Amino acid sequence: MERPDWNGPLGVAFDHATAYLGGLPERPVRPPASLENMRAALGGPLQAGSLPPEKVVADLVAAAAPGVMASSSGRFFGFVIGGATPAALAADWLTSTWDQNAGLYVLGPAASVVEETAAGWLVELLGLPARASVGYVTGGQMANFTALAIAVREVLRRKGWDVDADGLWGAPRVRVIAGEGRHGTIDRALRHLGMGTNSLVTVEMDGQGRLVPAALASALASGEGPAIVCAQAGNVNTGAIDPLAAIADLVGDAWLHVDGAFGLWAAASPRLRPLVAGIERADSWATDAHKWLNVPYDSGLVICAHPEAHRAAMGVRASYLQHAASGERDALDYNPEHSRRARGFPVYAAMRQLGTDGIADLVERSCALARHFADRLTAGGALVLNEVVLNQVLVRLGDDHTTQRALRRIQEEGTAWMSGTTWNGAAAIRISVSNWSTDEDDVDRTVAAILAAAA
Ligand SMILES: *Cc1c(COP(=O)(O)O)cnc(C)c1O
Repeated sequence: MERPDWNGPLGVAFDHATAYLGGLPERPVRPPASLENMRAALGGPLQAGSLPPEKVVADLVAAAAPGVMASSSGRFFGFVIGGATPAALAADWLTSTWDQNAGLYVLGPAASVVEETAAGWLVELLGLPARASVGYVTGGQMANFTALAIAVREVLRRKGWDVDADGLWGAPRVRVIAGEGRHGTIDRALRHLGMGTNSLVTVEMDGQGRLVPAALASALASGEGPAIVCAQAGNVNTGAIDPLAAIADLVGDAWLHVDGAFGLWAAASPRLRPLVAGIERADSWATDAHKWLNVPYDSGLVICAHPEAHRAAMGVRASYLQHAASGERDALDYNPEHSRRARGFPVYAAMRQLGTDGIADLVERSCALARHFADRLTAGGALVLNEVVLNQVLVRLGDDHTTQRALRRIQEEGTAWMSGTTWNGAAAIRISVSNWSTDEDDVDRTVAAILAAAA
């Protein structure tokens, strides 16, 4: 067979990538193309014959680029979405180039050692128990799913019930106690795990979305049997962090899980660390690398204080698999996937590029810029609804209708992009500062766009 010309398609991709990334500061954040335009450009039947790879990539760039949201722009403040640090992006390209099946050590020895190393860095950086185990998953959703799968198996094992063999049919009922301000992925994980949302005991939150410890104490006291408590570090609207030390004092022999998709990263900053005091006392944690660590999608992390329970819940054995024999890490013991991408490479590269000081600085800078947002918006006559403790700002511009209309205008105008929410029954605009490249000028330009849209 003729040797393929790698330079052709990869060259087109490289040229587009550098032009795209270099153009981020100038281009509108929202994608310019309409749905009809994109369907016309990208749709149609699949042709019968093959096409030259270079042409396929060039056509894809031409057709898809107008429909790309500039979510790695420094003026993208929607949901909680990080950009990609340069080293992490390059390592992500190599992940596809090397195309390792990272499930088993034997299939990707370097991928395994990189994941082991970055796991160690992460656990130390976040101040979690040194022996905690780490699984690399697609995001916060799967991190919550995996942690809850480990938790329900383990709390039932302690009651003499074998979930692996008998599932949940006829098992003692496990209560999952979580705050009203929890993320919807907890409920979704319970659905996927066959536990059902009726397993949930919902506990009152305070005005910032934090779980109220006294309400947790009465929820714990008002039922019996095995329980899982889900606390949260970083409410998706306000950024508020549950009082973790007070919660850890109350849980007794219940399993304590912390959903810290972005808020867990406060632990990486000596200045912000007090916000998550007590976090190391949990049994499991869920977090994202594609949010605050600025690793490209998709990248989440599940961490467990009980490595044996973690491996027992996730692991798989088969005669045709060549399992690690003497202490090597087989990734499929820590995540629900079997074959998977070597997603440790970009996590490793992001952490290497930034270093512990750089990660702390990224987190602190984002929080300072969120406060700057709040100050400027307040000075401009907008109403900031939350205590800006982390990187989230909730802002209201007049009544619900005015706020929602202004949000649409801001999204269409293109200087910046952000999304909306309802907080305590009122429409609000959510601003999340999560990108490594955002600076004060980005914030000032965005505040001007917001105030202009409100006027
Ligand atoms: C974003 C988020 C999730 C979900 O994470 P994905 O990466 O989107 O799967 C879960 N919990 C919290 C608190 C979040 O902010």
